[in-house]
Amino acid sequence: HAIVTNQKYCAYSPSLDLAIGERITLIQKLHKAITEDELDIFLQPQFSLFDNKLVGAEALVRWRQNDGHFISPGVFIPLAEQTGLIFEISKNIIARSFAWLSDIKKHHPNLYQNFNLSINLSALDMAQSSLLSFLQTSLFNHDLNANKITLEITESAIMENHDLFIKGIQELQTLGFNLAIDDFGTGYSSMLYLKELKAKEIKIDMGFVRGIHTNRVNQKIVQAIVQLANGTDSMTVAEGVECKEEALWLQSIGCDFAQGYYWNPALPIQEFYTQYVSLKL
Ligand code: C2E
Ligand code: CA
Ligand code: CA
Ligand code: CA
Repeated sequence: HAIVTNQKYCAYSPSLDLAIGERITLIQKLHKAITEDELDIFLQPQFSLFDNKLVGAEALVRWRQNDGHFISPGVFIPLAEQTGLIFEISKNIIARSFAWLSDIKKHHPNLYQNFNLSINLSALDMAQSSLLSFLQTSLFNHDLNANKITLEITESAIMENHDLFIKGIQELQTLGFNLAIDDFGTGYSSMLYLKELKAKEIKIDMGFVRGIHTNRVNQKIVQAIVQLANGTDSMTVAEGVECKEEALWLQSIGCDFAQGYYWNPALPIQEFYTQYVSLKL
């Protein structure tokens, strides 16, 4: 199984395909990873397609192995969701991301002013009654304003209670967090959410972005999503932009923001600093 990845290569086998023994070992190791700080946050910069300026970053978790390799979240997040470990991971990521953002606020106030940090939460987290107070306490401890933070959420098959899911998201919004509907247009990420939730951002799945400069179907789909977003006062974020032609096309049809290998993959925090923060000193 190709579960070990580096930054650029993200192929993975869904954890459901793992053999039972392999799965159990992985679960035990994941438990240990949470308590022994083996999870790292990488940051992928996000840009305005209007003026090409940095507007923020998405925090993407990586599981550091002893040999320096990383296991992709595509493998261990689904596993964590199936085994009830996900909320522990989410809290860990919230704590780390907030600490980082608070550092930026303190030491790079100019950057902070025009910066938004996006964090991925699992749909299952919406069913945790302590999520709200955890987020509230974390904001307070790090002296952060919720409006600088976007929570990216995808509904998945694993979240069966739709009403609880919607209610959970609405509560986060009352704290002032921005909401991004992740992977829009795929799987369970449906129109219903546009109707029921005021999302600040709609994230256009990279499947629709790929080859948009030549693929007419993708052009039509993304144009429709951008129009929908305009109609619901949401911004659009294209993910997985890999070349200049894709970026130009997205810009020409009015997509607001983008991220992808064309600019950078998710970077270790230190590298993100070197490339994007130290410039602002
Ligand atoms: P996602 O949130 O849709 O994230 C986008 C994925 O695309 C990331 O994979 C990112 O590294 C990758 N990507 C970015 N730019 C490009 C590009 O130009 N081309 C290609 N081919 N890929 C690109 P990653 O980091 O492996 O994460 C996979 C998924 O795991 C994420 O999909 C998200 O659903 C989940 N995930 C990642 N971090 C977290 C986390 O902290 N919490 C939770 N709950 N889920 C996470
Ligand atoms: Ca995301
Ligand atoms: Ca996505
Ligand atoms: Ca995804």
